Amino acid sequence: MEDSLRYKGMRKRLVDDIRLKGIKGEAVLEAMNRVLRHAFMDSGFIQFAYRDNAFPIAAGQTISQPYTVAFQTELLEVKEFHKVLEIGTGSGYQTAILLEMGARVYSIERHKELYQKAGDLLGKMGYHPHLFWGDGYLGKESYAPFDSILITAGAPSIPETLKNQLKVGGCLVAPIGESGTQIMTRLWKVSETKFESETFGYFSFVPFLKGKV
Ligand code: SAH
Repeated sequence: MEDSLRYKGMRKRLVDDIRLKGIKGEAVLEAMNRVLRHAFMDSGFIQFAYRDNAFPIAAGQTISQPYTVAFQTELLEVKEFHKVLEIGTGSGYQTAILLEMGARVYSIERHKELYQKAGDLLGKMGYHPHLFWGDGYLGKESYAPFDSILITAGAPSIPETLKNQLKVGGCLVAPIGESGTQIMTRLWKVSETKFESETFGYFSFVPFLKGKV
């Protein structure tokens, strides 16, 4: 996928816009400046790639709004070499942002078409995530524990399986709520049995569907 001066300019303006909306982490902003969002868009929407909006992708899903991607990434407190589990690969855009920040990314998607597309694209772009086709509610026990877990779909509640696959000291970020709007939530695992939760306002995601693979 080609970059261009025009795309570079639009990307920089998008990053400035996201900074103005309150995202402070330079590492997140730099990653967003590096990832070619236009590569992750469906062909009909490429021209809108650097607008701060969510857009449709295949299988009736969406590529998240850039501000939301930045917001969730910032909450995750990603450090280099962190092992991050992402639920809902979708277009693969959020996956690429996490990889640009130096994380080792494990990402699960329930739609086979999206799983394949994201894998092809990320590979061509030189990224090396571990992608899985399956039900995110199950997490990935064989690679657990994770430094952090990111759910990129609206979850009615946080599955116990995912809480169990988190390291003590790590956090899980998820939009919690039924369809429509969700409350962005960060859960810190303070001991094997104790969690502390923080909330960060309202967002709107496609649903985190259980057992539909
Ligand atoms: N991070 C993505 C956002 C995709 S939208 C991006 O940047 O493009 C959320 C994704 O979660 C959708 O692709 C949807 O298919 C997926 N999803 C929903 N329920 C799931 C489940 N149980 N397991 C895995 N993926 C799921």
